[in-house]
Amino acid sequence: MNTEAVLTDLRSRIQAGYPLLFLKTWEEDRWERELAELVLELERGLVTWTITQGLQPPASGDANEAPSAQLLVSQMARFPAEHVFLVKDFHPYLGDPLIVRQLRDALPTLVAQRKTIIFFGSITTVPVELVKDAVKLELPLPAYEDLRDEFDLALAELRGADDGIVIELSVDDEDRLIKAVMGLTAQEARKAWRRALHGRSELSDEVFTTLIAEKRTLASGSDFLEFYDLDEGVGDIGGLDQLKEWLSQRALAYTPRAREQGVPLPKGMLLLGVQGCGKSLTARATARLLSFPLIRLDIGTLLSNQRGESERNLRSVLHLVESIAPAVLWLDEMEKGFAGVEGDAGGGPDPTMLRLVGTFLTWMAEIQKPVFTVATANSVENLPPEMLRRGRFDELFFVDLPNFDERKHIIGIHLRKRGWKLEKFDIDDLAQRSDGFSGAELEQIIVTALIDAFGQGHVLSNEDLERAWRSTVPLSKTMEDKIFALRNWAQDRTRRATSDSRVTAMLEAEQRNDSLVIPDDDEDELPAWAQLASAGQLKAALVEYVRGDGDVLFASMQDALAPYMEVAGDYGLAARANPNTVLWTGLSQPLCELIVELVSTKRLYVHPTDIERYKQLQKGLRLPVLKEPTDEALPRASWLPSSLRCAPHAVHSARLARIGRMKLASG
Ligand code: ATP
Repeated sequence: MNTEAVLTDLRSRIQAGYPLLFLKTWEEDRWERELAELVLELERGLVTWTITQGLQPPASGDANEAPSAQLLVSQMARFPAEHVFLVKDFHPYLGDPLIVRQLRDALPTLVAQRKTIIFFGSITTVPVELVKDAVKLELPLPAYEDLRDEFDLALAELRGADDGIVIELSVDDEDRLIKAVMGLTAQEARKAWRRALHGRSELSDEVFTTLIAEKRTLASGSDFLEFYDLDEGVGDIGGLDQLKEWLSQRALAYTPRAREQGVPLPKGMLLLGVQGCGKSLTARATARLLSFPLIRLDIGTLLSNQRGESERNLRSVLHLVESIAPAVLWLDEMEKGFAGVEGDAGGGPDPTMLRLVGTFLTWMAEIQKPVFTVATANSVENLPPEMLRRGRFDELFFVDLPNFDERKHIIGIHLRKRGWKLEKFDIDDLAQRSDGFSGAELEQIIVTALIDAFGQGHVLSNEDLERAWRSTVPLSKTMEDKIFALRNWAQDRTRRATSDSRVTAMLEAEQRNDSLVIPDDDEDELPAWAQLASAGQLKAALVEYVRGDGDVLFASMQDALAPYMEVAGDYGLAARANPNTVLWTGLSQPLCELIVELVSTKRLYVHPTDIERYKQLQKGLRLPVLKEPTDEALPRASWLPSSLRCAPHAVHSARLARIGRMKLASG
């Protein structure tokens, strides 16, 4: 649930007269602000309580009473009906039988007077005596839309600072910066952005790695998860062109545009293959490509002899991963972790392992959050067959020993990484000789040659590389049969990470169902938004239309969308904070709902605009005109001429952030 959904839930509970709500949160400030706004909207009185201040504002006559938990209930009774009491950190006092009894006795009056007590803090324990009358909720960390607001504030602050940033950010950059801190509280997120962006004029990869490192603490409480720094990128992987291309396409599925067009979130990939050929490296590079933290899970560590403990461990780990999401979850050496699923010595499959596999697969199928799983394995013998079935992972890749071109690429990468110019070396020759060597072994040749040359007091030469090559026996020699069997198995069951030839690569690319391609303005006569609209993607079309135009009047939007949906009707839009502020009328219900959703999820923003623009279109509402939104109560419905944009208004964004649909009297 995001903030908006929780507020809707709380709104209905307060309205329905729930007397006791227990809300757990780590973000006192943010949620106190949200709750205060909600109570105001419900036109109830709000009173807060802390042990240091007592009730604020105090009931008349109570101002001189010292704060006391035992007086809380009697003091609340002195307030008139329709009040909400926000009681902070009260859990230590709920162990007191006297206080619990006072609360129970007060329940009928609370309900009759439509009063709600919200117990609010990082610990929520509901005394058994109150369980039946209480509702317990965990308030979520800021969702993407909430962090958008925080990001706008943080950015404005940074830009305002003397040595602040003058960085230009695209919509996609902002999206990545926001996603990188999901899982943190709003305050932590602001601190992280400040630290990562301060004084920068350019958005480098380093910014993302700094932001992602802030999430390290989230995984640090777990014995099963390991957090990795993102040091290597896709550019560090030699060869594996098919795999890299596939990955960069999946990365697009996390962009806001893909979200608008309903492109599903990728689930992950399984990399099966020969040891030392870059599977782990690819897992690390994937996290960097997506700008997600990389968390490694060793299934073996979850196992316990106690009944049910292993599954409990797995569940709690997966829950933690979700709270860190977006994230790349790396299941390393999966065949070892799940070893025993097939059982041995005719004992049949190990039931614990079967349940673990089942739990994991169900989680992977159902998870709604952006978690991309990369599972790596060196053999298939011990891999649970369910894992390999189509549809579990988005793709199964076979990572083979590198071919000639790939070996050249890998040698080049590792020499360059250590500061050597490639022209000095006969890379073709080394690549030629090293057929059957893995990437890790090629790297080892370079490392050995470097150490030897340095030890002998000369600069690295082709001779050193050749000597190192001679002294290395590739694993593929000793494991030839195993590799051959694996390759055979993989042939029809997996996709190759490397293209065999340009022709096959081209054919495959053509056959691939390319659902991620986003229509381009120049390629077709119709602009992108109209292509989307004719494909039924109205939400995406509307955002695209506003993005393209920059500033769209409600009237123009209605005209533009007319060929694609019913746009006219008996509905209108108004600001929720002040419902007499009418934005536009004469709209159809579906169009109203579309706009309300896009505004509430912060894809679009309402801006007050100059009435002259509407006059030029010869359109307008027959209502008194407002120049700008106001907090004052309006005696009657008034028209705020406004438009839609993709960025919030500098001053009025809060007043116009929530809009609602209203039904107009027809005729
Ligand atoms: P294992 O199954 O033994 O874990 P792996 O397939 O995961 O093997 P990596 O751990 O990724 O292999 O490889 C070890 C190291 O070898 C990498 O960190 C990298 O330095 C180098 N290496 C392997 N393959 C490649 C490659 N394709 N391009 C560049 N470097 C590579």
